[in-house]
Amino acid sequence: MVALKRMLILGGGIIGLEMGTVYSTLGARLDVVEMLDGLMQGADRDLVKIWQKMNTPRFDNIMLKTKTVGAKATPEGIEVTFAAAEEGGTAPAPQLYDLVLQAVGRTPNGKKIAAEKAGVAVTERGFINVDIQMRTNVPHIFAIGDIVGQPMLAHKAVHEAHVAAEVIAGELQGNKELAAAAFNARVIPSVAYTDPEVAWVGLTEDQAKAQGIKVKKGLFPWTASGRAIANGRDEGVTKLLFDDSPEAHCHGKILGGGMVGTHAGDMIGEIALAIEMGADAVDIGKTIHPHPTLGESIGMAAEVAHGSCTDLPPARK
Ligand SMILES: Cc1cc2nc3c(=O)[nH]c(=O)nc-3n(C[C@H](O)[C@H](O)[C@H](O)COP(=O)(O)OP(=O)(O)OC[C@H]3O[C@@H](n4cnc5c(N)ncnc54)[C@H](O)[C@@H]3O)c2cc1C
Repeated sequence: MVALKRMLILGGGIIGLEMGTVYSTLGARLDVVEMLDGLMQGADRDLVKIWQKMNTPRFDNIMLKTKTVGAKATPEGIEVTFAAAEEGGTAPAPQLYDLVLQAVGRTPNGKKIAAEKAGVAVTERGFINVDIQMRTNVPHIFAIGDIVGQPMLAHKAVHEAHVAAEVIAGELQGNKELAAAAFNARVIPSVAYTDPEVAWVGLTEDQAKAQGIKVKKGLFPWTASGRAIANGRDEGVTKLLFDDSPEAHCHGKILGGGMVGTHAGDMIGEIALAIEMGADAVDIGKTIHPHPTLGESIGMAAEVAHGSCTDLPPARK
């Protein structure tokens, strides 16, 4: 087996960074090339910053606003050439790699499976449109998963599949309750299974800013979490965002949340549930979380938003 020395990750999204974590842990040195201006797009920049600080030692080069324009196999390795993604930008010099991981451009295969031959309408990009019961334009044909749209995630596909199966079974059995099944999830969580993990669900702070949505933020640093300290991994934070519009009358429901830290992906489901149930900061803060756990940070972030957290270190003067 050839030892992996230098690896290029093409695409700084979740999948590329997850796979890069694995290869780097096995000994590869990483470069990453990303067309946009930051890694792990979709997550709030403050969370990504913490991940990036911890992961800087894995990377030799993080090439942002850069695209690859060529890759050639040579006896010495794969020679990759780059160009600036934006006009006027500068491109790095060509580099030699032992391995190039292509982690961009997952596309739906609606056209490739010739769904149109069964009368199923396929969009220009290869997606198949469905209604909330996962039914295509052909009433007895259903579609679920990546092919019906973003986000392309396994947990979304499974929930959609349950809906389709229930509707089909309900119609066949004359069971009205089953036949009325629908996909009406408010939110779908995202997780980067990196180290530390980054997880988020619902509205992000960056989206709130961009859309002019007024939110109250509760941020709990894991430096104040006994469990994170005991784990020797207190770099994380838990952030919750609550509706702070005048209509919310200071009792705004949770709109979104994000975490960076070990096991963040295991905990984000609680924030998703809180959004689905329309919880406010008091509901979450007064829910007794066991001590000492990382999950406590969710209750405490809610208390921070509410102004009742007693677990933060004193503010620096
Ligand atoms: C590297 C990687 C990591 C990922 N990690 C995560 C993760 O951590 N969490 C997460 O939620 N999601 C993750 N995803 C996304 C996740 O895999 C997809 O969202 C999920 O598999 C979608 O399910 P699906 O049933 O729509 O499609 P698929 O899982 O792709 O299933 C479609 C199946 O149909 C088969 N097929 C295609 N054409 C035909 C045909 N003509 N006839 C018969 N069979 C056919 C394919 O071979 C395939 O087995 C990851 C994806 C990748 C690529």
